[in-house]
Amino acid sequence: MKKTYRIEVDCANCANKMEDAAKKTKGVKDASVNFMALKMKVEFEDGVDEKEVMQDVIKNCKVVEDDSVIYLD
Ligand SMILES: [Zn+2]
Repeated sequence: MKKTYRIEVDCANCANKMEDAAKKTKGVKDASVNFMALKMKVEFEDGVDEKEVMQDVIKNCKVVEDDSVIYLD
């Protein structure tokens, strides 16, 4: 399952950091951040609750980039 989220981040460098943090999150198979479009695409592992996984993605992104925002709507 893949989902795309709107994000806020201040520069391409931080976008890369968010991408790495998302990729390392448990339950995430793959993630990519498009800084120009301010979008994060997340591919989830089979059978996970994507809402729970995204809470961890947000947490992990906050660790690497305090100003990062991911919109879950
Ligand atoms: Zn930055």
